[in-house]
Amino acid sequence: MVRPKTEEEIELLRINGELVSKTLAEVGKAVAPGVTTKELDRVAETFIRDHGAIPSFKGFEGFPSALCISVNDVVVHGFPSDYILKEGDIVSVDCGTLYKGYNGDSAYTFPVGEVDAETRKLLDVTKESLYKGIEAAVAGNRVGDIGHAVQSYAESFGFSVVRELEGHGLGTKMHEDPGVPNYGRQGHGTRLPEGLVICIEPMICAGARGVYLARNGWEVHTSDHRNAAHYELTVVVRKGRAEQLSTFRYIEENSIQ
Ligand code: MG
Ligand code: MG
Repeated sequence: MVRPKTEEEIELLRINGELVSKTLAEVGKAVAPGVTTKELDRVAETFIRDHGAIPSFKGFEGFPSALCISVNDVVVHGFPSDYILKEGDIVSVDCGTLYKGYNGDSAYTFPVGEVDAETRKLLDVTKESLYKGIEAAVAGNRVGDIGHAVQSYAESFGFSVVRELEGHGLGTKMHEDPGVPNYGRQGHGTRLPEGLVICIEPMICAGARGVYLARNGWEVHTSDHRNAAHYELTVVVRKGRAEQLSTFRYIEENSIQ
């Protein structure tokens, strides 16, 4: 069931949105060749707990860490590990917080040092496809309008959209209705009421859109082992223009990503 949030609930979601945004910026400062993905996880967990919140992913259905850290051909749900980041990698960091009973959820794909031109394009197009999705997240539109906006933009560059995973509503639960696919048809799907809080999170592949689940039951890889990028923001559906509850501003203030 789709339930719009009260302004009081939105305020708590906004606090969480700020915290995940600032946590991602802290992680971004630490991304560099020679750093392990476990070290990035530690940066995030410390920052979140120092702000009186809980890293909501840790323990969720058995997930072991504060962050999902997904390198190169891992689309999402990667485990932080002893893997040492190297120049030219891309690292997708997904962060969740729980504060006063409400959730924050955002993700960003960071380049490690210099990446090749095609990879840079994948990052730029995936991030922009998220903004195209946000533009479509206005009261009275439908979920399919968001998916269509993301898909048509990403595919116009020859990239492909993962179909098996999607965005979602956000509130006291990490995943609420409606599901928000990154593909779709204009005018189709659940209608978006004012006050609905959703996470839009394009997962875009450089190559084919096929994915498979790793043996650990979590990590989603591209079948062709080419790179995938993932950006996620939380927004409130409003009349005329959605309001962002999380932002990449803090990341982008730190450096050119
Ligand atoms: Mg997320
Ligand atoms: Mg999410």
